[in-house]
Amino acid sequence: MWPQKVKENALIACRRKCCVCHMFCGRNIELHHIVMESKGGESTFDNCIPLCFNCHAEAGHYNTNHPKGTKYSSSELKRHRDIWYQTVQQLDLAEHKWEASENKQLKEVYEDQVVTLNGFVWREAFPGPPNYDSFDTDRIETYWMLVLPEPICLFANSFETEETIKIENIRKLQLCVNSEFYVANKDIIRTDVELTGKLFMSITGHHHGDANFDIRGLHA
Ligand SMILES: [Zn+2]
Repeated sequence: MWPQKVKENALIACRRKCCVCHMFCGRNIELHHIVMESKGGESTFDNCIPLCFNCHAEAGHYNTNHPKGTKYSSSELKRHRDIWYQTVQQLDLAEHKWEASENKQLKEVYEDQVVTLNGFVWREAFPGPPNYDSFDTDRIETYWMLVLPEPICLFANSFETEETIKIENIRKLQLCVNSEFYVANKDIIRTDVELTGKLFMSITGHHHGDANFDIRGLHA
């Protein structure tokens, strides 16, 4: 059993998001002993990693008599956890900085305008097809998101009415890149980058950001 304080601190540190796949879990989150209790692992903050059901099953069950796949080592789990706690802190800091800033002039961007934006890149998991609703029944889709230190404002055209819509307070952009980009730029995850591209509105179940960012160029 986890002491209440350890439990609370861990859930706050991860924002109830799984430390391995980063999906938001709400109540469906579990605390895993990085070093198992049976092997002398203590119920301390340092030995604790919050995980979703899937990742917990993966991390907890590995049959050494019938090895299949790649085992999660305790040091790997610890690194996942530390990186995730840091990421959460960094995202929070950016938000607080903006909240506290005096000059909250929103940058205005038009759909189809080529813009260069700075932000922090990270991976986020979402429920995918068929229902885009639940991690239990749907496939998991992972996307790269760009979190902006300052929100922007997007003017986009409505498909139905052809009117211009103003979308305020855009903070999180889903990156639209091809598979070569993913492979070539893996190291930009959890770093600050400058990206050039065009913004467009979120319209399908695959779109999870406040808007989408079709990337044309990267300046690390
Ligand atoms: Zn997970």
